[in-house]
Amino acid sequence: MISPCSCPICGRPLSPSAAADSPVFPFCSPRCKQIDLYRWTEGKYAITEPLKPEDFAAPTDEESGDEG
Ligand SMILES: [Zn+2]
Repeated sequence: MISPCSCPICGRPLSPSAAADSPVFPFCSPRCKQIDLYRWTEGKYAITEPLKPEDFAAPTDEESGDEG
C-alpha cells in the first residue's frame, strides 16, 4: 500500500509541506511526473483491435413493432 505522501512512481516519501507547494505533486520530481504521463499516453494510444465490417453493421432486430 502506497502512502498518500509518497511518489506513486518511485515510492519516495514526500514531505507534506513540500508536497503542498510542489509543482509536480504528487510526484517527487518532474522526471517521475513525465514517467506517469508517458504511461497514460501509452495506454491512451494503444490500439486494442482493428475494427471489422460487422462492427459497423447496424443491429437489425425489428421483431417487435412498437408504435407507441
Ligand atoms: Zn518519484
